[in-house]
Amino acid sequence: MTIKRNRHTKILATLGPSSDTKETLLNLVKAGMDNVRMNFSHGTHADHKRRFDMIREIEAETGRPIGIIADMQGPKLRVGHFKNKSISLTEGQNFTFDLNDAPGDETRVQLPHPEIINAVNIGDRLLMDDGKVRAIINDKGSDFLSVTIEAGTKLSNNKGVNVPNVELPIPALTEKDKIDLEAALDLGADWIAQSFVQRPEDVKEAQNLINGRAKLIVKLEKPSALEYLDEILELTDAVMVARGDLGVEIPPENVPAAQKRIIRACRALGKPVIVATQMLESMIEAPQPTRAEASDVATAIYDGADCVMLSAETAAGNYPIEAVSMMDRIATSVEQDDLYRKIMDADHPKTLGNNASDSITAAAYQVAMDVNAAAIVNYTTSGSTALRTARHRPTVPVLCLTESEQTARHLCLSYGVRPVVTIDVDNFDDMVSRASRIIRTKNLADKNDAIVITAGVPFGTPGSTNILRIASVE
Ligand code: PGA
Ligand code: MN
Repeated sequence: MTIKRNRHTKILATLGPSSDTKETLLNLVKAGMDNVRMNFSHGTHADHKRRFDMIREIEAETGRPIGIIADMQGPKLRVGHFKNKSISLTEGQNFTFDLNDAPGDETRVQLPHPEIINAVNIGDRLLMDDGKVRAIINDKGSDFLSVTIEAGTKLSNNKGVNVPNVELPIPALTEKDKIDLEAALDLGADWIAQSFVQRPEDVKEAQNLINGRAKLIVKLEKPSALEYLDEILELTDAVMVARGDLGVEIPPENVPAAQKRIIRACRALGKPVIVATQMLESMIEAPQPTRAEASDVATAIYDGADCVMLSAETAAGNYPIEAVSMMDRIATSVEQDDLYRKIMDADHPKTLGNNASDSITAAAYQVAMDVNAAAIVNYTTSGSTALRTARHRPTVPVLCLTESEQTARHLCLSYGVRPVVTIDVDNFDDMVSRASRIIRTKNLADKNDAIVITAGVPFGTPGSTNILRIASVE
């Protein structure tokens, strides 16, 4: 079965009850899903394993690598519970958060996080239920916070709490995350996504625990992570602009600028960047998105994202296939716009300097544009050449030929890259004929079309890319 994509931007869809049969998963792949996210905040390990196995079967049956991301819940803070499940609040009233696990009432509720009570100061703000309730701390003791309710009318059991602008002394991986992380690595997840990262040390800890068994996606959803953006980008393999929590932690009006800044920084470094959350939110209930949502997906692509993500739309919505296919159509439309091309070209990454593979990759891109090539072909072991090519946001497909199944799966996130697993070449003729054969079975170009190939010589020894060849499809 050949599934051809007419776009370069990648699609990541979150799995859940709405995407729980093999038939639906296959239809999602056909509609455009390139990667899946298993959200470890929901579902059991058995649920994740069942979906994982189905995805790997579909991968084998379609011959198309699929990236699997295991998303860790992280330290999501929550209030305790109330006698009557919820309470009403009025603006200006006083309220207390304490460590007492007795059911809450109109005056108080448990906040089972002593380290937060300790870390915050009078004047700091607490946000509950995705920012629907706002409170200012007016007094504190070792075991309580007294607050004035600034906005909001209702608070119910176990609602989330965000403490923006305070760097909290809590690790980004909880005990639950550590168990989930091992389970995800045992399954063979390609990526671990780390939530609520605050500082570079959090990323180091995750990389140490993962220990090379998967690659890491840092979810940028705390203001503190934005302050350390450069250091964090150095340490991670990819990032997600996690706008759900980010838009609670920083004012929503600042999210678009943050999104643009993060995407540009990632593109310059050749690290994949995903834009996530509420992209086609209304499609949970409706077969069509709002105009604003269509525009939001398009904006992420005009900003230069590698990948756009669906959350509840595919995990728990009524129209998972329609949501993926809508994203596919929006991406296709944006990529064909002349203005999009101008924007991508205006922001070309600089070469690293004094790095042979980087120079070859940049040259290959330039040559491909000049000779009007139908595709760029990268032979690579680690995938780093393909990541460098993707940085240029080329107009033509990047066929990445690799011996490593893992590399192929990782490249599913990267702009324009079509990863294919194949054995290493051992001579120049084979280099062209193998690329030609795969290009023609994948329908990426026609006989006699120009292609630009990069590889490393001597063949068969993994090392840096050092040759560039212009060839014709045989
Ligand atoms: P979540 O992360 O869906 O796991 O919360 C994404 C976000 O916060 O945007
Ligand atoms: Mn989040």
